[in-house]
Amino acid sequence: MSEADLSVDVAIVGGGIMGSALAFWITRLDPRCALVVIERDPSYATASSALSAAGIRQQYTTEINVRISQASIEFLRDAGRHLDRSAASLGLQERGYLYLASAAGAERLDACWRRQRALGVEVARLDRADLAARFPWLATDDLALGTLGLRGEGWFDGPGLLAAFASQARAQGVRYLRGEAVGFTGSGPQLDGVRLADGRVIMSAAIVNAAGPWARAVARWAGIELPVSARRRTVYVIECPARLTELPLLIDPSGFWIRPEGERYLAGYPPTPDDDGAPLEPDHSGFESVLWPALATRIPAFESARLRGAWAGYYEMNDFDQNGLLGTLPDQPRLWFINGFSGHGLQQAPIVARGLAERILFGRYRTLDLSALDVTRWLDDRPLRELNVI
Ligand SMILES: Cc1cc2nc3c(=O)[nH]c(=O)nc-3n(C[C@H](O)[C@H](O)[C@H](O)COP(=O)(O)OP(=O)(O)OC[C@H]3O[C@@H](n4cnc5c(N)ncnc54)[C@H](O)[C@@H]3O)c2cc1C
Repeated sequence: MSEADLSVDVAIVGGGIMGSALAFWITRLDPRCALVVIERDPSYATASSALSAAGIRQQYTTEINVRISQASIEFLRDAGRHLDRSAASLGLQERGYLYLASAAGAERLDACWRRQRALGVEVARLDRADLAARFPWLATDDLALGTLGLRGEGWFDGPGLLAAFASQARAQGVRYLRGEAVGFTGSGPQLDGVRLADGRVIMSAAIVNAAGPWARAVARWAGIELPVSARRRTVYVIECPARLTELPLLIDPSGFWIRPEGERYLAGYPPTPDDDGAPLEPDHSGFESVLWPALATRIPAFESARLRGAWAGYYEMNDFDQNGLLGTLPDQPRLWFINGFSGHGLQQAPIVARGLAERILFGRYRTLDLSALDVTRWLDDRPLRELNVI
């Protein structure tokens, strides 16, 4: 059969972490399923999955996000059972997230901590004296509270996880097609294929939008204005002669985050303005004008920091409620969404992809019930309010 009239059970548009993890799970759960992943850039030069900070945390405020994180960390710790990579080779380091609050934010952070404890998250509540004793390099004068994840939080090798899912999916028979998807054939309940820029048509019973920050463009081919935009985030690579003991991933009340990466540090902050689709160039000037002053205020040792590099990637931002959009819409039963994870997609991918695979193959969630992330909540105007979005 030539590629011009390839016919499969499932066609996935986009081979980033969502598309590749989904391809892995579908063919793991049903080895007979014929599946293609359509990816326009196998080098993943602009894919979010290759450009993220690859952090995983438990400190969420919605039950669904906590349950996903609990399952995701188990998946990563046990990666060798599923993938041809162990947790150690995926660089998993459980060194915690430290949220900090000034007096103005203390009540809110305290409420988050109570909620997390009730959901079984192992998280410590630290007052100013605790913070000063535990992190002697931290400027604590204006701080009222901190919360520190004790287990299940840290970071890992994001591109490594993507490569592991993709290679395992291939080993299970998934075919990666290099090409740019440009439209669908059929519509509504008769949607039946994906058209590629080179003229090929891939006929498929189920089609998945896994196009990350470009998901809205793909949804438009079906007449859907999905609320997902591409919000540029710059990651700064910083060197500092001072060695900080026990630096977790720190989130400052001013908005910046920082974590160690080998001998160096990675850091970033939410930019303003935050336009859709800004060119994928790092904002070098933001280091001097925003990040460095805030960093040196919180960690005085960073007065002697130097910027050594920077890169930029897109958050695939769900402008509706900043959480993943999963499943199908009522009049489009053959088009599936796995979009809009808004800065926490890499850590959620192993579990949300497993769930969507179950929905596609068996019509229901079999392991963790992910219906709280159902894309229909957007149509019904029922936002899922997560207070901890970074
Ligand atoms: C700076 C930064 C820091 C982040 N930090 C974290 C973090 O600490 N923890 C965390 O969990 N998440 C983090 N994220 C978010 C995370 O990276 C994303 O949620 C996740 O990678 C999204 O994966 P994806 O597969 O949906 O998108 P992508 O990885 O972007 O993959 C989409 C793929 O679709 C392809 N594609 C698009 N359109 C087409 C088309 N028409 N035809 C063919 N192919 C197409 C693209 O080429 C791309 O490869 C961060 C993101 C950024 C940018």
